[in-house]
Amino acid sequence: MSMNGDRHIALISVHGDPAIDIGKEEAGGQNVYVRQVGEALAKLGWSVDMFTRRTSSAQSSIVEHSPTCRTIRLTAGPQDFVPRDEIFDYLSEFVQEFTRFQQRSGIRYGIVHTNYWLSSWVGMELKRRQPRLQQVHTYHSLGTVKYRNVDNIPAIASTRLEIEKRCLETAARVVATSPQEQDHMRAFVSTRGNVNLIPCGTDIDRFGSISKDEARALLGIDPKAKVVFYVGRFDPRKGIETLVRAVGQSAIRNTQALQLLVGGGSRPGQSDGLERERIEGIVADLDMQSIVQFPGRISDEDLPAYYAAADVCVVPSHYEPFGLVAIEAMASGTPVVASDVGGLQFTVESGKTGLLAPPRDETAFAAAIDRILSNAEWRDRLGRTARKRVEAYFSWQGVANQLDQLYEEMLEAQFSCSINSSVA
Ligand code: UDP
Repeated sequence: MSMNGDRHIALISVHGDPAIDIGKEEAGGQNVYVRQVGEALAKLGWSVDMFTRRTSSAQSSIVEHSPTCRTIRLTAGPQDFVPRDEIFDYLSEFVQEFTRFQQRSGIRYGIVHTNYWLSSWVGMELKRRQPRLQQVHTYHSLGTVKYRNVDNIPAIASTRLEIEKRCLETAARVVATSPQEQDHMRAFVSTRGNVNLIPCGTDIDRFGSISKDEARALLGIDPKAKVVFYVGRFDPRKGIETLVRAVGQSAIRNTQALQLLVGGGSRPGQSDGLERERIEGIVADLDMQSIVQFPGRISDEDLPAYYAAADVCVVPSHYEPFGLVAIEAMASGTPVVASDVGGLQFTVESGKTGLLAPPRDETAFAAAIDRILSNAEWRDRLGRTARKRVEAYFSWQGVANQLDQLYEEMLEAQFSCSINSSVA
């Protein structure tokens, strides 16, 4: 039994606000993860405070999601959007504000669960000030892997790598979301430190709640069309170019009504806006305007219908530590064609729940997409197996149960440790 007060847990996500609408602001998997984990833990009896950086003066400083789960926005640096690679300078202020909040509210957190390397630094600083505090960390992305896949290494890179190593070696527990991410930590970051494998999850009630026919009627999509679907941030590393070129060389393009939906969004002037313009340029060059649509950011309410309406969902990322989109599609009964990298090798079973193809290989992607689209019966079988795989391994409830158990073990270990030392 843990001591009263230790059931308070702080989730820290400096740059990924769990309370914003994923469909509206620049946001991705980390925002979804923190919000879903927070809400699920609250249902299991934890008092959950999720801390993030305020990015606009119009945002309220506290958002209550349920009586025991809330988002708390701390002011650290400008009340404006700041790119991730420039946030490090404001982290000391974030730590100060966090401490001030704790003093005002009188809450003592037993565990701080940090997300992404920026927050890991915050966690390590807090631990220095509060020795009883235990840190759990989820990376969401590893600098060492990311920098292998990009041409321009930012100035912050060496700081990030050093902090990621220190965190792995000193956090009470690090959560790897896939066996692939765990291998990368061991091979490229450090052989020291405690790693637990707990995957990301998805809402298996929301995804899978609507049939393909209903979804197509709702979205106004031709019931006979072959629909290929992408959703996610517009970032060159997401490999949207590979997908567009693959569909461009699809063999069934000339015989069937083929449609490519590229969901996700952009705000003018931001980096994802540039990538969207670049992709639209490629679509025009390949003369594909008539078969490609850009529905923009897709809201929470519409997302289940898009996944259900699709014949195949494609995740062509150059790298992906986990990749929530793959399991959302699978939960919706839609097979996935994904890059043979990272967490996608864990979620997608090639030949059973979809197909894996080498990253950046548009010919291989075209072949995989065509193989699924040209055999409706096999497609449906892949979709049913995909759904079962998500139910078995990737529901938020299951994931939250594993985290709950992890936290309990940590608190118990500390409790018996403090009894031993007071006896000694
Ligand atoms: N997403 C969304 N609407 C959009 C684009 C993305 O709801 O228009 C969500 C998507 O459903 C998924 C998340 O954003 O839950 C993206 O997570 P993923 O792990 O696939 O990629 P990341 O953004 O973390 O790189």
